[in-house]
Amino acid sequence: MIPSLPTMHHLAHHLTRRVPHISRIPINLPSINATLQALALSPNPLQAVFLFKTKLSTPDAVSCSLALKACARALAGREGHQLHAQVVLLGHLADPLLLTTLMDFYAKTNDLAYACKVFYEMPRTDTVAYNVLISGHVLGGEAMRALSLFRTMRCAGLSPDEGTVIGVVSACAQLGSNRLGCMAHAFVLVAKMHDHVVVCNALMDMYAKCGCVELMRQVFHGMTHRCLVSWNTVIMGMAMHGHGREVLGLFDSMLCEGVRPDSVTMVAVLCGCNHSRLIDEGLRLFDTMEREHGVRPNVKHYGCVVDLLGRAGRLDEAYNLVLSMPIEPDAMIWETLLAACNVHGHVGLAERAMVKLGEIGSTHSGDFVLMSNVYAMHSQWADVVRVREVMKTCNSRKVPGFSFIEAKGSIHRFVMGDRGHPRWREIYSKVDEMNRKLRLNGYVAQTSFVLHDIDEEDKENALGYHSEKLAIAYGLISIEVGSPIHVIKNLRICGDCHGVAKLVSKIYGREIVVRDRARFHRFVQGSCSCGDYW
Ligand code: ZN
Ligand code: ZN
Repeated sequence: MIPSLPTMHHLAHHLTRRVPHISRIPINLPSINATLQALALSPNPLQAVFLFKTKLSTPDAVSCSLALKACARALAGREGHQLHAQVVLLGHLADPLLLTTLMDFYAKTNDLAYACKVFYEMPRTDTVAYNVLISGHVLGGEAMRALSLFRTMRCAGLSPDEGTVIGVVSACAQLGSNRLGCMAHAFVLVAKMHDHVVVCNALMDMYAKCGCVELMRQVFHGMTHRCLVSWNTVIMGMAMHGHGREVLGLFDSMLCEGVRPDSVTMVAVLCGCNHSRLIDEGLRLFDTMEREHGVRPNVKHYGCVVDLLGRAGRLDEAYNLVLSMPIEPDAMIWETLLAACNVHGHVGLAERAMVKLGEIGSTHSGDFVLMSNVYAMHSQWADVVRVREVMKTCNSRKVPGFSFIEAKGSIHRFVMGDRGHPRWREIYSKVDEMNRKLRLNGYVAQTSFVLHDIDEEDKENALGYHSEKLAIAYGLISIEVGSPIHVIKNLRICGDCHGVAKLVSKIYGREIVVRDRARFHRFVQGSCSCGDYW
């Protein structure tokens, strides 16, 4: 989100208080540009914009570029647009550095269309310009477009540098495509960039997100130099895959090597404990993190521990921890508690969490579904109806679920009940076949994952065509036997799809890997790597 800009008056006041030396800056261009450079990189980059406006009547391309850099760092959209207009008026549009900065500003403020426009109007494009555009597309969630820009860049005969490769590897991570990821890794090796720490960090992150833990481990052990981000990446990767013991081992090694953990490390280690049911270890770490490692728990650390206790059924302890928090619990904390109440059927606490979510102003539709499920578990049907009514009247926010799958070199995206795929008839008949086989194996659809205002048969149909089931069915018909079926889901996998994936892995003898919002599930021979604990 773009933060609102302070008014110029406020800024001027702030500057005279915080940067008294500004009034003493000699008015010559080189010294002003040097100051602009320092301010643009300072914690308050808007100071550079203020200086630019107050001290310069005829700025050169360098001054404009520095002021734009400040706008990009501050995500100051309006100021940046004004500067763009000024650049046009001053006739600096032929300056390649300035144009690259302008593109970077648009990419960072998530205006990719404008970033592309500047790019295509540039008299000549170099690597730097491509890098800005590639990383901008990755940032904006347009990974496919980022990869096609990379191909265009190669066709234009330009050599990618580390910045390009990091953008490309991050795009592969976003798509969860280990095939493309391995190609990017091969490129890193050929280009001899495998000693570059940031490139290796990106590779590890990519392998973790593509479900290739072993390759992530290999990159980590092959690194000659590691930084804090390298440790954080490998620990988080292991945590997402449920390798809790290895997470703790890595954390110990990190401390032995004298690397000080930061708050990201502690989230990753707590996550690892959480996903592997290492409750005592997680609680001990949380207890000592400030005293022993100097990291004060923030809302994310509290969230991990509330989840840890809640999923273990220690709901009262989880609730007491929330009440004792020195910082204001956010919607995520109350949603975590509500999810735990849903697992353990705790009506009273779920209601309290719901009240808090209402006070915060959160109207996420998933929360209403959880609440109505808790009531349904106790057959409180009148309350189920009431929650449904409230949900309708308050315009609850729905995050649409979708799943990706890569097959035969291309990426396919499905939403629930999707009929947009060219092979949708085959996919639906595969889903029907899956359901028949599941029923023969005694599987009963877990209809509590659908709202309770439709009858049982409709509920089963609604569940039957969840995006991850369509993606798995497509995997069964299009990915050769022996290769795992990789699916990426943007939300948490529902209990029914989880149960179905387990049984499908057994009936069809296929390995299925699902990356959901929270973690990885690897289904082999009827069981999941999460141990049904997620
Ligand atoms: Zn589902
Ligand atoms: Zn699982």
